[in-house]
Amino acid sequence: MIKTIGLDIGGTKINGAVINERGEILKTYKLETCAKEGAQKVLYNIEKIINELKDDDIRAIGVGTPGFIDSEKGIVTFAGNIDGWTGLNLKKEIEKRSGIKTFIENDANIALICEKWLGAAKNYDDVVMITLGTGLGGAVYNSKMGLLEGANFQGAELGHVILYPNGEYCTCGQSGCAEAYCSGSAIRRHYKQLTQQDKTGEEIFNLYEKDEIAKNVVNRFIDDLSWYLTSLRNIFDPEIIIIGGGVINSSKIWWDKLIYKFNEHCHLASKIKLKPAKFLNDAGIIGAGKIAMERLENE
Ligand SMILES: [Zn+2]
Repeated sequence: MIKTIGLDIGGTKINGAVINERGEILKTYKLETCAKEGAQKVLYNIEKIINELKDDDIRAIGVGTPGFIDSEKGIVTFAGNIDGWTGLNLKKEIEKRSGIKTFIENDANIALICEKWLGAAKNYDDVVMITLGTGLGGAVYNSKMGLLEGANFQGAELGHVILYPNGEYCTCGQSGCAEAYCSGSAIRRHYKQLTQQDKTGEEIFNLYEKDEIAKNVVNRFIDDLSWYLTSLRNIFDPEIIIIGGGVINSSKIWWDKLIYKFNEHCHLASKIKLKPAKFLNDAGIIGAGKIAMERLENE
């Protein structure tokens, strides 16, 4: 049975795993990303993880990384969170260090590939996925056309759709992006603006019934998210929108309210399904492993 290594490069951790053709995780290893120490340090950590995981049967490596990715060449065309990542030929760097054929893809795209393969999107041909974590990632997939990339590899940067013209500042340099309203960091910031208290997104969700300010912040998040999903539906008309990312861990507080609001705002809402992702932390490594298998076959 074919085995590949899947790597998921996050802002704080790099998760690695050996995956087989059934999507089973055979072995895992992770290290801190050390993003602030720059590209060479991150590459060094990647090499350590690969050395820990590799054996003679590994056929290829798949990598998910944030940013705009030219997946054909394996180049990161833009990434804001790791110094020196922009412009890097990540495919070549990893192949040089490991001696194993490597394929690079955007991190939200690999999460969608995992859900399409084994998760919530399994039986659907038109899928949009958003990942609600610290930021807001997005991916668009169609069975005939594959992943949407766009002319400059930013075709599915769904977090930077403008939700409020001239609204709050976003890390991408624009103002009023959906990410500035529908993300873990947005919830934290909005709560802090009103209380001067720094709490995690999870803590704020858990205060929903006890703290009027937390309730207002979460209700605003739900409302903004429902408008945002309405626009995504109208642009892409998918069969299903999958919602993943860390914020889904608190979904028992907000999911039903979101569906109610979405049905209120969206035209013909009954024709589309909204579902939480099946895989959370493992989506990246499984999707990256899958991409390596598929692309190796098409070489
Ligand atoms: Zn933005």
